[in-house]
Amino acid sequence: ADLDPQTRRLTERRDDVLGGSYRLFYRKPVHLVRGEGQYLWDAEGQKYLDMYNNVASIGHAHPAVAQAVHSQMLRLNTHTRYLHERILDYTDDLLATLPQYLDAGDFKAMYMCTGSEANDLALRVAKAHTGGTGLIATTEAYHGNSELSSSVSPALGSGQPIGEHVWLLPAPDRYRTGVAEIGAWFAERIRAAIADMESKGVRFAGFIADSIFSSDGVLPGSYLKEAVDAVHSAGGVFIADEVQPGFARTGDQFWGFAAHGVTPDIITTGKPMGNGIPVSGLFAKADVLASFSDTVPYFNTFGGNPVSMAAAQAVLDVIRAEGLQEHAKELGAAALTRFAQLGDAHDSVGDVRGAGLFIGFELVKDRSTKEPDRELALNLLEELRQRGVLTSVAGPHGNVLKLRPPLPFTHTDIDWASEALDVSLKALS
Ligand code: PMP
Repeated sequence: ADLDPQTRRLTERRDDVLGGSYRLFYRKPVHLVRGEGQYLWDAEGQKYLDMYNNVASIGHAHPAVAQAVHSQMLRLNTHTRYLHERILDYTDDLLATLPQYLDAGDFKAMYMCTGSEANDLALRVAKAHTGGTGLIATTEAYHGNSELSSSVSPALGSGQPIGEHVWLLPAPDRYRTGVAEIGAWFAERIRAAIADMESKGVRFAGFIADSIFSSDGVLPGSYLKEAVDAVHSAGGVFIADEVQPGFARTGDQFWGFAAHGVTPDIITTGKPMGNGIPVSGLFAKADVLASFSDTVPYFNTFGGNPVSMAAAQAVLDVIRAEGLQEHAKELGAAALTRFAQLGDAHDSVGDVRGAGLFIGFELVKDRSTKEPDRELALNLLEELRQRGVLTSVAGPHGNVLKLRPPLPFTHTDIDWASEALDVSLKALS
């Protein structure tokens, strides 16, 4: 690509000093210098609409988080081997957001710094509790970058070995499969996978899923009950990875799994929890956690420290004070309607689906065959970028735009995004 001198210089410096596993977005990389709410600015002063970031979930550079971190940092930061109220107050507060049908008193909390660490611990706990090693995940899942969490993360591509005792299943995708009873379809595959592993002498430990299947292409709905029942009747645990759908984003619910009415044995959190401060968590049923915690100590130097907890507390307070869950529901519904209208107007849009401010926009070569159009999706990302809209793609075919803005998203932003999508699709047709 034709890069301006500053972009070229920074790109070359990265190549010189950073490890090669990093991947940049865009043919002409974006050099961001500032953020506020759902907006970002680059070094040349161009303003962007962030349609991708669920880390800055309550808005980029939110002053409530900055102030909470600042004042706790000036007072004390230490670790979980000393007594401190913050971690306890936060745990009480967060567990109170669990759906009514769960007993929050059944759950115990552990804290760490990344989603990968949370899922890594969740998998260890699942194995310790069940005595099994067999795991089920979906074919395009991403759960983290540690040895164990990457072993259930086929989204990393063919260079990443999948665990020897990991069974991968296609995600419950109503659009791609054309199956209306997708819950029964998926549960049948879960039962077959468990039977297969047991026939090979592998004891079942659990099923890990992000309940909106973000990496598998964004699959909202309420269909996991039968699958989770099958997991439980086989003696396995269900790990709900809330790194993507959690923290009010899906609007109807604070937690993604709650849309399915299922009971997770372990819940893991990350990204949106600290609005940019590295804080993540694991919330497990006390009896499930016990087999691990009775025998293995867990200490995470930075996990659960007062500064991290101050950030997490501020995020929760802002979600409530600014009514962000209700807002995500309202704005998400309005955005979905507008994007679906665009879908009707452009033959290359096969499906538009979403829950709250988490929307998948699927591009196809032909609506009747549903043949995925990855190239169009990639070109569309570049066109959108030209119009100041930042997002990325998901799904096994890389043809689904993942539209997932910070929660303060407004009606004016819907206009910006749908205008950009409309003009870009026209330019590419
Ligand atoms: N689980 C899911 C569903 C994720 O999307 C991610 C990050 N993309 C992770 C886990 C890993 O989180 P982290 O990058 O904080 O380790």
